[in-house]
Amino acid sequence: MSSNSPHALTAKYPHTDPVRSLEAGWREVAYTPDAAVDAAAGLDRGGRLPELIDGPPNLMERLNGLAVAVIGAGSIGMHTTDAIARLGAGALLICDGRLTKPESLLTHPIRRTEVGVSKARLAALRAKEISPESRVAYYDGPFQSLPRDALFDANHVILSTDNLAAEVSVAQACLHLGRPLVQAALFGPALVGQARSFSSDGSGEGSCPVCAYTAKEWAELDRGTRFSCEGAATAGGSSAPEPSNIPTVSFPHLCSISSNLAIDALLRSCLELGRAIDGAEIVNYCGYTGVSTRSPLARNPSCPLEHRAWRVCTTESALESLTPRDLARIAGYRDADLRLLSLGVEHHCFAALVACHCAGHGSLGRFVRDGQELGACSRCGAAKVLHPLHAHRDVPASALIRDFDRSLGALGVASTPTVLVRGPQAATLIRRAPSQKV
Ligand SMILES: [Zn+2]
Ligand SMILES: [Zn+2]
Repeated sequence: MSSNSPHALTAKYPHTDPVRSLEAGWREVAYTPDAAVDAAAGLDRGGRLPELIDGPPNLMERLNGLAVAVIGAGSIGMHTTDAIARLGAGALLICDGRLTKPESLLTHPIRRTEVGVSKARLAALRAKEISPESRVAYYDGPFQSLPRDALFDANHVILSTDNLAAEVSVAQACLHLGRPLVQAALFGPALVGQARSFSSDGSGEGSCPVCAYTAKEWAELDRGTRFSCEGAATAGGSSAPEPSNIPTVSFPHLCSISSNLAIDALLRSCLELGRAIDGAEIVNYCGYTGVSTRSPLARNPSCPLEHRAWRVCTTESALESLTPRDLARIAGYRDADLRLLSLGVEHHCFAALVACHCAGHGSLGRFVRDGQELGACSRCGAAKVLHPLHAHRDVPASALIRDFDRSLGALGVASTPTVLVRGPQAATLIRRAPSQKV
């Protein structure tokens, strides 16, 4: 049996599978009680926690209330997921689309028998064995392919990936959902480990990881040089971009130092032990000097990310059964405001016209799912494409004026996880209530 078969991994963690899928793309690891493992059940966690000077009295309660999403379970992130499980966090979400490889033994806390398996799933099984009481779920694909409410159930997010595209997506998701973010990183040649904290208060005033991007980073992102589109190389088999295998060049202890700096920042926020300077700060540890420094991170007014948080509404109804008028009302708008709004149906655009190179354009007037084929042109037989000037992701209400009372389903949407309603002042994300929450 190959070491990367799901069964081989399950055999190493016999009490922590199978998994079940949750609506937002995450798969939850289940735990099967077992006498040998249960010897560790009922641990006196509190007895091993320090009584913090001027710390909160309800330490255990706060730790149990932690719901942490860790994006990137590699050299740094897998130390983090282990540590969060040891803290006894209430919930842990882990996203990574890559597989462990032999070189991972040099920097990840893994054994030789754990080479060639999904990093996200491995980290989730390890966490569940360390803390069976924690709810643990994973996603073994790129963060960008998760729905836009994927971090809704997390109250803290830790980012530990060197994939710029994922970094931008996570930063944007945390700003939109108003989730505090800690980014762990290292620079091996200078023996520097660092944690950058961003406390997202929803006002749009604070800094984000992308605020500090240099021209070099933007050029790199534009070129996509650090990304491949080899879907087969990712554990989830998704075709969305994943990082090509850029190795972590570092002593292994620096990976854990960076991870621990991030855990420390997480605890400062969770236990209210101290606030980040100006709401966003960087803590640097330098191995050459043994000195750590702490400085604020400034908001860049030219940052291209949308800094203001969305309002979030959760509905019991299937979104495809609702009309544009229903959605506007859920978002708190009056019927008179409808014409001022736009609707963004996740994974879809609204095509008023379809086009063909023979100029045989035709009207369509419905939503089209990403990647959906539009059929052949009746004039020349070539595949029709979306008309670039008449296809919208954020659909202005003016394009829907005759469809305010038709359901999204009748307008071509078979299913969608979220709809974004944008008004003149604010944006509201409408999501369906999941039947199983993490
Ligand atoms: Zn920014
Ligand atoms: Zn044609």
